[in-house]
Amino acid sequence: MTFNDNADIGTSDVSSGGSGGGGGGFAPGGMVAGGGIGGLVLTVIIILISNFAGGNGGGATSNAGNAGQVAGNQYDNGQVGGSDSVQQQLAACRTGADANRSDVCLIKATVATVENFWTTYLPKATGKQYTGAVAVVYSGSTQSSCGTASNQTGPFYCPLNKKVYIDAGFFSELSSKYGADTGQLAKEYVVAHEYGHHIQDLLGALGRAQQDPQGATSGSVRTELQADCYAGLWAHYATTTTDANGTAYLKAITASDIRSALSAASAVGDDRIQKQSSGRVNQDTWTHGSSAERQHWFQTGYQTGQLNACDTFNATSLG
Ligand SMILES: [Zn+2]
Repeated sequence: MTFNDNADIGTSDVSSGGSGGGGGGFAPGGMVAGGGIGGLVLTVIIILISNFAGGNGGGATSNAGNAGQVAGNQYDNGQVGGSDSVQQQLAACRTGADANRSDVCLIKATVATVENFWTTYLPKATGKQYTGAVAVVYSGSTQSSCGTASNQTGPFYCPLNKKVYIDAGFFSELSSKYGADTGQLAKEYVVAHEYGHHIQDLLGALGRAQQDPQGATSGSVRTELQADCYAGLWAHYATTTTDANGTAYLKAITASDIRSALSAASAVGDDRIQKQSSGRVNQDTWTHGSSAERQHWFQTGYQTGQLNACDTFNATSLG
């Protein structure tokens, strides 16, 4: 979806994670250092990391000493040096026009509309209040309470510190590596999916992935598909979200926008990723669901606009 040029995105819940020293970068081929991108969902210590596509487990390390990373402020200015480009880019993101021309600003703007939506919708649908989750945008790699975030982990939600981690380069990978189209809703879907995990965390549903981490009908797959459904739910209501001045964040959703979201949902299906990396499909190791299932649940949320329609845990069929 396209942002309204004059929408104010300056107060979004986003911080910069800085550039890590690990040299993660965006080197070609870096993503398959471990067991391939169709591998196990990434688990670190005892905490589930709900990354966006099936991770390869290659980038995670234990890092109990990184509490200093967490700051309650919108900008973790103390964490990064003055040369950090992501921080500078984020600080310069002010309007919807910025979001329409810059991926970093698009993340910031999408966080604003997603949080605006859930703040209103969650209490209505569940009686529970929404509490915010900061999105950490980084380049290369950065430390989270759930381990190292890098281009190997892809975007994920860390329940330990309730933050969403997004590699600033992931959106270009989403098209170049995974094959999604380059439309804005493809990218916005990624952000909305991760905030879907935050909603699951607030509702106490996130642990079910950990109890049953693999397989076509596993708790993990059901958790991921529900996050896709929540992303669709946001898309259903997204154009009604407004900034502090009452200006709508987004322009009307189009058929092309929906095609972009579905192209992204398809691109990160377990079957598609497995076929790409190994040439065969093994349902026993699925963590996120098939391309068709991910599309189906995004559409379920988008078409119904009903939280209850996203009950993947009690669905008899996931496709
Ligand atoms: Zn996920």
